[in-house]
Amino acid sequence: MSLKGKTAVVTGSNSGIGLGVARELAKAGARVVLNSFTDRDEDHKLAADMAAEFGTEVVYIKADMSKGDECRALIAQAGACDILVNNAGIQHVAAIEDFPVEKWDAIIAINLTSAFHTTAAAIPGMKAAGWGRIVNIASAHGLSASPYKSAYVSAKHGIVGMTKTVALELARDKITCNAICPGYVMTPLVEAQIPDTMKQYGMDRDEAIEKVILQRSATKEFATVEQIGGTAVFLCSSAADQITGTTISVDGGWTAL
Ligand code: NAD
Repeated sequence: MSLKGKTAVVTGSNSGIGLGVARELAKAGARVVLNSFTDRDEDHKLAADMAAEFGTEVVYIKADMSKGDECRALIAQAGACDILVNNAGIQHVAAIEDFPVEKWDAIIAINLTSAFHTTAAAIPGMKAAGWGRIVNIASAHGLSASPYKSAYVSAKHGIVGMTKTVALELARDKITCNAICPGYVMTPLVEAQIPDTMKQYGMDRDEAIEKVILQRSATKEFATVEQIGGTAVFLCSSAADQITGTTISVDGGWTAL
């Protein structure tokens, strides 16, 4: 399947799932726009290395997804946006009565509101092109909850709702909007919550991974960033023309339980 001639903007893509998705889209031939809130030499080198590896144009654009104007500016600066992957996200683990207000606000802004801004900014270009794909990286936590993740679960349920709404609004425009719901993928985001999980449950690292993090995974395995990227490429293929307004779980059976 070739995505040659298409531009893909992937938010939060200098690490983890976003980077994995961006790599699979570049491998399929898309021109790719990488993004995060930093502007380091290594961010631009990542883009240059990926361009050389896959023989396609890859650029890096700094934009802070907690700020609405920067979300919209990212789409404007991208030059085109045929494929939008709303992936940027953060996590914080705490009981709701202790949940820091600034963490709640940041999670809702980055994990949910940023997708409102980028989607709104990208739609006119997709309509003009007569084709578009919006892929929201939600989570198994967009379909079910876990304790101590109130902001994250709220944001992810929110983005699943937005996915359905956007799909209906664009249903006659050959623009699809879907959400991928990963279970656990070993990325810096998951690595960072292991200490808090150990603390909340009074467990060591291996026990916290097995009994809490992978507790609901039937396969007892982490998904890989390549598998999430492959799912995104599938959603961009013509086989997925009639797939819109839905969720695809990549969660090792978590939500089947
Ligand atoms: P990660 O920490 O590796 O990557 C997060 C990315 O978002 C990074 O590139 C980071 O720079 C970027 N980012 C953070 N704040 C930003 C901001 N203000 N502006 C722009 N970019 C910002 O984490 P990940 O695990 O790859 O998570 C990516 C997405 O996948 C998130 O939406 C997360 O909720 C979702 N997800 C992850 C898992 C998992 O198990 N790792 C499971 C389900 C869903």
